[in-house]
Amino acid sequence: MKTKYIFGTLLATALLWSCSNDDDEANITPEQPENPSAEIIPIELSNYDNGSRVMMQTFYWDVEPRGDWWNILSEKVAVWSEAGVNRLWLPVATKGQSGGYSMGYDPSDYFDFGEYEQHGTVETRFGSRSELENLIDKAHAEDLEVIADIVINHNSGGGEEFNPYRDKNTYTLFNEENGNASGMFNRNYENFYPNSTSDYDDGSLFYPEQNLDHNQEYVQNWLWKQDNSVAKYYKNTMGFDGWRFDYVLGFEPWVVKAWLDEVGGFSVSELWDGRLEVLEAYIEETGSGVFDFSTFYKLDEAFDRLNDLSHLESKMLWQTYPEKAVTFTANHDTEKDANEDNFISEGNKLKAYAYILTHPGYPTIFYSDYENEAFQVEIQKLIKIHNSIATGDVEILYSDNDEYIMKRNGEGENPGLILYINTSDNTKRRTLKTNWTDAFLLDYTENSKFVSQADENGEASIEAPGNGYAVWSIATTGTE
Ligand code: ZN
Ligand code: ZN
Repeated sequence: MKTKYIFGTLLATALLWSCSNDDDEANITPEQPENPSAEIIPIELSNYDNGSRVMMQTFYWDVEPRGDWWNILSEKVAVWSEAGVNRLWLPVATKGQSGGYSMGYDPSDYFDFGEYEQHGTVETRFGSRSELENLIDKAHAEDLEVIADIVINHNSGGGEEFNPYRDKNTYTLFNEENGNASGMFNRNYENFYPNSTSDYDDGSLFYPEQNLDHNQEYVQNWLWKQDNSVAKYYKNTMGFDGWRFDYVLGFEPWVVKAWLDEVGGFSVSELWDGRLEVLEAYIEETGSGVFDFSTFYKLDEAFDRLNDLSHLESKMLWQTYPEKAVTFTANHDTEKDANEDNFISEGNKLKAYAYILTHPGYPTIFYSDYENEAFQVEIQKLIKIHNSIATGDVEILYSDNDEYIMKRNGEGENPGLILYINTSDNTKRRTLKTNWTDAFLLDYTENSKFVSQADENGEASIEAPGNGYAVWSIATTGTE
């Protein structure tokens, strides 16, 4: 079926040996080192630290509502730091309307980090303010930045009041008695659309009656301008280092730009749109990074929806804005979404990680994936590869429906790598031109046991196991 078509397209480029994937050592180690007593030793990846790291998304939808999540995370920060993480994206840290059950996306009191009795609880779903402060301290002690999830499109959980601009009662009253026990950033109908200065009504699906009007000086002062604004309080009092802006489709880009101009810090916006030009325009307008939905959807197409890896030849955000593209394979939304189009299936997840952890962009590791026992060791290996030899220009050496081979050229002493993804059932091997001459090659994911050798022209055979991937780079030789 497919195989015939593949062979037809291959002849000009490379040799393909397809062998049955039956764990037969003879199939995967056809070449022995020239000197049988020589030992092929992997290079020590940590000697090639390229300075790049990954972000951990430290939660999933429906984290257990026991108020101990900050403590659970505190126990993990040292291990994550050791694994090569440099930022923690925390769940929304302040109280939402659903109190102890709130995932935070229904923000009520921006200054209640689990210290005021309201919405039926003192602690948030994730814990108390002091437990959060302890987590932030521990993260900083491990040189991890802590990223706040900022929800400023809509509010939720205010008291009922008559709203003359809607000629009915709305839940737009936020004060000490009504969902805002901190008394900071009290709000009423005047601060939401429509109001005395704006008749805008986005009619959006989320809380349209409690949609904050960012054009108001009062709202700007409380969100980012004054000394005790949300932005400055999070940064200066709580110790947050950066921002993840929720649902930025709901408000204008200048808001994020004004926030960043005021307080700076790492920033990534959730602009849920797979179109490259939309993401690029947003980066240009705000200076903020964005979650790379362009790459996410290409990965889903290539691995799941269309089952054709040649879609990985498409243009993606990591190519045009590598410093601003925050790549990911899953998040709290995609994992709870039953929609296959917004979800990279379990069986393809590691291949998607192999992609984002070898290409440019700033990869996010999703908590549930990292903590998945079936994935953890593989993800750890890929992070080590990402933080070391995933460097230099990108060259796609080959792609077809079931194979994708990409080279990072390395830089100076850094040898770079070749990623080989294979979605067929068979082990695949190809002979290619590499940057490496007279060198032994190993797969640093250890998925392939094949020991390869690049000749004096850089020609080498590399392989990838069926339904898997390998990441090739140079090895050294030694004797026992
Ligand atoms: Zn899918
Ligand atoms: Zn193929």
